Amino acid sequence: MHVEAIYHRSADSYCYAYDDRTVHIRLRAKKDDLQTVKAIYGDKYDWEHTAKETPLYKMATDELFDYWQAEFAPPHRRLRYAFELVSGKRKLWYTEQGFSESKPRDPLSFFDYPFLWPSEILKPPEWVKGAVFYQIFPERFANGDPANDPAGVRPWEQDDPGPHDYFGGDLQGVLDRIDYIQSLGVNAVYFTPLFEANTNHKYDTADYFKIDPHFGDTELLRRLVQAFHDRGIRVILDAVFNHSGIRFAPFRDVLENGRESAYWDWFHMKDYPVATGSKPSYHCFAFESHMPKLNTANPEVRAYLLDVARHWVNECDIDGWRLDVANEVDHEFWRQFRKALKALKPDFYILGEIWHDAMPWLRGDQFDAVMNYPATEAVLRFFAKDAIDAETLSHQINRLLASYPRQVNEAAFNIIGSHDTPRLLTVANDERKAMQAALFQFILPGAPCLYYGDEVGMRGGADPDCRKPMVWEKQRQNGELLDFYRRLISLRLAHPALQEGSFEFVYARDRQIVVRRKHASEHVYVCFNHGGAQERILFSTDGQLSPVPIWGNGTFRMADDTVTVTLPPFGWLVLAAPAQDD
Ligand code: CA
Repeated sequence: MHVEAIYHRSADSYCYAYDDRTVHIRLRAKKDDLQTVKAIYGDKYDWEHTAKETPLYKMATDELFDYWQAEFAPPHRRLRYAFELVSGKRKLWYTEQGFSESKPRDPLSFFDYPFLWPSEILKPPEWVKGAVFYQIFPERFANGDPANDPAGVRPWEQDDPGPHDYFGGDLQGVLDRIDYIQSLGVNAVYFTPLFEANTNHKYDTADYFKIDPHFGDTELLRRLVQAFHDRGIRVILDAVFNHSGIRFAPFRDVLENGRESAYWDWFHMKDYPVATGSKPSYHCFAFESHMPKLNTANPEVRAYLLDVARHWVNECDIDGWRLDVANEVDHEFWRQFRKALKALKPDFYILGEIWHDAMPWLRGDQFDAVMNYPATEAVLRFFAKDAIDAETLSHQINRLLASYPRQVNEAAFNIIGSHDTPRLLTVANDERKAMQAALFQFILPGAPCLYYGDEVGMRGGADPDCRKPMVWEKQRQNGELLDFYRRLISLRLAHPALQEGSFEFVYARDRQIVVRRKHASEHVYVCFNHGGAQERILFSTDGQLSPVPIWGNGTFRMADDTVTVTLPPFGWLVLAAPAQDD
């Protein structure tokens, strides 16, 4: 037994409450080292009458480790526990005090989860598991009102946007196209920033209380959100609270009045006199002097930004905020932010833009979810860039799933392209590969988000090329891809297993993958052949429900517990097995 690889801690992804009754515990061990793991658990004040045992199962495996998990209700909401580990002929017990050859008797030495507080559990809104988002970059989606166009807008059909160009897209354009958005089947939309700013992307806010006049006004946003709600579609907006724009009134005051300004402490000023340009005398987003970093530790700034956050819920009834550069803002601001927003709307979605491990923000007191960039990268490397094999993809996804509590994975925001990255079809450069990548995105735990235009086959390299005006003429749209996306969205929404089932790779070798998602109501299998030749894949249902094909382009055979699928080059097949008693 490789005890040095064994790890557990009574915190974060290793020990957490999933709901008001259930605690999940995980243990990490060297890959293939342990044959069985048991938890011995009970209540610390009545060990004798409450002690029980339960087996852990392997919930994921990566290059180096197996991750074992058990789910159970602690007696009296308190939990003491130890692990019994078996490797070959060796049996060891593992407690907070380390390893022992004999069964430990004193529960005081065990791991401890003191008390299950429902108020402290991370509970992302229920609706997010069942959400499919559509991302809109408002300057480029549709121009519904030429009267509000910025000076010098370029013709909509030109598809070579420069970094500072305007095409005239606005909120009226979105309202005009709302039937199209609904026809895709999505049930949520995410808008990049809408507030007055100096750029076409609006990430440099000048006035947090004002819709950019190029886009419309508060009344129009209110009507637009209402129209989405009437169609069962939720709306989340982008909040840029890490930094403002250089035209934000308090920063202008600092530029005018220097140290005498009442707003000097609203920012992170380093030197006097204030210098802008290429060597700013204040902290910025990156080193962008037109994006001065806000001092969110200042109570006045906190109060101001919390007012902004509440304002747009009160005024327009929005359903969530996506938080830009969220990990460079202080934690205490986000704690106050969560309390303020959840008090207004308990099922409000708080989504942080964080590219790295985000556990510190996902303990129940700050965000509901983060943008799942690590998954994006793994998916693109396998399906679009052919840079890794199937086994490596499975390791990367499994490691990610094991690094967070289950409810974090279920509420993750899964993107495969955005206004910040080259478009999927350009990266994959093959429709079949792009479809496979999208299918994989839609079967991952977490809510998938479709970037506007990907569904009609738009291409584009890195920003600003990925921000071309939406293609609306039917003859320039890829109708086959559009049908595929509509079907994909309805697949996701029709199957509870894809929204909240368990997730496992039952096959991952070379360029072939089979994923199983199990739910009380059904099991769903999704098979991929990412190779350039026809492939036959055999896998076992492990004696569980027998599936039948429901969508895809391969053939299927079932004998005893063994499924054989034969898939064409870059083919895929979705299988489903409803529960017998359903
Ligand atoms: Ca316009």
